[in-house]
Amino acid sequence: MSADARRDELADRLAETRRRIAAACADAGRDPDEVTLVAVTKFFPASDVRLLADLGVRHVGENRHQEAEAKAAECADLGLVWHFIGGLQSNKAAAVASYADVVESLDRAKLVSGLERGAAERDAPVDVLLQVSLDPPGADGRSGADPGDLDALAARVAEAEHLRLRGLMAVAPLGEDPAEAFDRLAAVRREVLDQHPEATVLSAGMSGDLEHAVRIGATHVRVGSAVLGSRPSVK
Ligand SMILES: *Cc1c(COP(=O)(O)O)cnc(C)c1O
Repeated sequence: MSADARRDELADRLAETRRRIAAACADAGRDPDEVTLVAVTKFFPASDVRLLADLGVRHVGENRHQEAEAKAAECADLGLVWHFIGGLQSNKAAAVASYADVVESLDRAKLVSGLERGAAERDAPVDVLLQVSLDPPGADGRSGADPGDLDALAARVAEAEHLRLRGLMAVAPLGEDPAEAFDRLAAVRREVLDQHPEATVLSAGMSGDLEHAVRIGATHVRVGSAVLGSRPSVK
């Protein structure tokens, strides 16, 4: 596909996604400015990030360290806000904090010291979201902290000098009505906000369920395929 054709395709998909967000906000009685679109560019080339930036996207999300690091470096001139949304390994945490402006997937205390080290070396505060699991306890392939562990995790982040606790991130479990899962998320969020009033960010909602997330107060939606098209299937 030529660059012009790709640009047109991305412009159309982006407009449709923005229309969906606006409609969901209207239904929920919310101001669309309260909801930030994070375009999830994983598996897509840096040239797409560039086109999206040109189309007004400011926030991009990536879920694999090596790919994210390379793309962030290639697109450093664009002044984008990079969100790391994937599973974190403790031996990569410092490296991720060296380029990610927002780390959305902190789900265990073991990661805090690495993130703090990376943020300190970079000499810029890194925003952190705690990823909370909405799966039943013990579910397979579960990622995210147990809601019961959030208090302790939040306290660890709040202590770290170069990390800023900003809120929560969650993914609706497969095979469950996202509306129900997100209702649980809204309740968890209220409890966290009681203790940490600064943790106002709620990153929830993807291509298939962003309307439900906007309804329960998401401040960030992470949208991949609806904006970029279906991802190449890679194992
Ligand atoms: C890939 C991914 C998304 C985007 O998913 P789409 O269904 O393509 O919109 C959102 N959040 C996380 C954590 C992801 O890994």
